[in-house]
Amino acid sequence: MSSVERQLDDLQAEIEAEVPGDITISDVTYEGPELVVYTRDPKEFASDGDLVRRLASKLRKRITVRPDPDVLSHPRDAEEQVRKIIPDEAGVTDLDFHADTGEIVIEAEKPGMVIGRHGSTLREITQAVGWTPEVVRTPPIESSTVSNVRNFLKQERDERRDVLERIGRQIHREEMADDEWVRVTTLGCCREVGRASFILSTPETRVLIDCGDKPGAEGEVPYLQVPEALGAGANTIDAVVLTHAHLDHSALIPLLFKYGYDGPVYCTEPTRDLMGLLQLDYLDVAAKEGRAPPYESEQVRETIKHTIPIEYGDVTDIAPDMKLTMHNAGHILGSAVCHFHIGDGLYNVAFSGDIHYDDTRLFNGAVNEFPRVETLVMESTYGGRNDYQTDQEDSERKLKEVINETYERDGKVVIPAFAVGRSQELMLVLEEAMRTGDIPEMPVHLDGMIWEATAIHTTYPEYLRDDLRDRIFHDDENPFLAEQFNHIDGGEEERQEVADGDPCIVLSTSGMVTGGPIMSWLRHFGSDPDNRMVFVGYQAQGTLGRRIQNGWDEIPMSGDRSRSSTLTLEMDVETVDGFSGHADRQGLENFVRTMNPRPEKVLCVHGDESSVQDFSSALYHEFNMRTFAPKNLETFRFE
Ligand SMILES: [Zn+2]
Repeated sequence: MSSVERQLDDLQAEIEAEVPGDITISDVTYEGPELVVYTRDPKEFASDGDLVRRLASKLRKRITVRPDPDVLSHPRDAEEQVRKIIPDEAGVTDLDFHADTGEIVIEAEKPGMVIGRHGSTLREITQAVGWTPEVVRTPPIESSTVSNVRNFLKQERDERRDVLERIGRQIHREEMADDEWVRVTTLGCCREVGRASFILSTPETRVLIDCGDKPGAEGEVPYLQVPEALGAGANTIDAVVLTHAHLDHSALIPLLFKYGYDGPVYCTEPTRDLMGLLQLDYLDVAAKEGRAPPYESEQVRETIKHTIPIEYGDVTDIAPDMKLTMHNAGHILGSAVCHFHIGDGLYNVAFSGDIHYDDTRLFNGAVNEFPRVETLVMESTYGGRNDYQTDQEDSERKLKEVINETYERDGKVVIPAFAVGRSQELMLVLEEAMRTGDIPEMPVHLDGMIWEATAIHTTYPEYLRDDLRDRIFHDDENPFLAEQFNHIDGGEEERQEVADGDPCIVLSTSGMVTGGPIMSWLRHFGSDPDNRMVFVGYQAQGTLGRRIQNGWDEIPMSGDRSRSSTLTLEMDVETVDGFSGHADRQGLENFVRTMNPRPEKVLCVHGDESSVQDFSSALYHEFNMRTFAPKNLETFRFE
């Protein structure tokens, strides 16, 4: 009998001792970090609303209760009863019965009404039919990404369960090592921005945190081949943890599966969906530019199949000696500060990922309270001594001025923007400005992946800032559904119509004018001096966006039928700073100053050489802590 089997037998005995005598436990098994309890008496189990919570805290495990397949009622009978119990206003759009696990996946417009107060409606469902209900939100804006991911996971359900059972055994294996140490090795994003990647290791466990590419630097990938990482084989890695979906953190995770990795990827649910969207786009762009991509869409699907979603604040076992907790990072949808508790009280490390310290319109500011933390691995993108950003309020005022001036002269405004994050922030600014009369009402056209990314945001309101979430939940005042917003889905013809029409605002990808529909808007708007292009995001060295920002007005265009031409840019160009998804120098300092508890050591990473040096020395002088500005491929021993 293996140690995991013995452990499961012991757990079953403990559970049997804890539950009332009329409840039969038929099996206990691990699926990923979760303990799944099968019972022949699901209805009795559900009658005590507090039982699962008591078991979870006694056994210190995440627990799911499922009916033994032998005792399930027929889906047809169950469906009728389930529909009677759920109030009509919940807006159920799909009911999916899985007889193999006794689960019903309920897709509804208002999941809260299916769940009920403290889960009372869910319990009522189980008490009536014996099945275990699981609830997901119907996206308020149709999202092909969300529905593709859900359909794919549905179709791969059997295989996924095998994967989860295997991972579950791996997580709960017997600890072999009697040595104790904790190390972090830097594989990328040190004294540079891009290719974020770290290894966190103990004698027992090795975890890879992030695995990104370096935008604009083809072939510069993290140092994955060193012995601490994949050098000893991809399957020597126990887990991959992803802080957020941006490609400089996520692009190369599918490559791990190509190398033979088949373990878990931990991230939040919205990060999983955004990651899928961005990785597929990454392959698309590579194909369009005639580059051979490092992996295929098959590996993106593998990544999604191996993803184990984690909610903010949930403590999750990811190895015999390691627990992971994710906290809101305020940077983009689903972004997380990742906290690792190692051993039984041995050591704690937090990886900031990318953060925004202050609240923005979209997100609450980054969380910096932990039960314990000795070392912080901290982003320093704007850590330079002069990296202070304009207040967002001032930026918004300036943006509104520019829009009003352009409107008065009958012109149109085009804003190049990243699909994820800044576009939704701008949508909120524009919606409010039109509602309060700060700018005139006019259409706002969204081009490229912006609409799809917005749809994903509206699917996960729990991850948005409190008051925005409440507007979406309670008042049916979803600002993203405002009538000004128009999705450009008719291609060139629709763009021509917009160009021939009245004053309007266009948000379009790519954010640095390196391709995508923004090129077409340049052609449509560029030669009219009444129009305006407004930059709201960072324009990297070497991009067309940076050149235009610097005054370039002869733009080479690859025209139709492979004829190249030059566009003379007549429209005005403006830059409005302050809409960054990153904390500025002040925000980074505040994050550390107010951090509770304050860490003993800080590794300053993810910033240009001078930014990390500046930031590291500032933290040392101000807070008297041990700080480092590591290079790539350094290893730190903490304990
Ligand atoms: Zn980021």
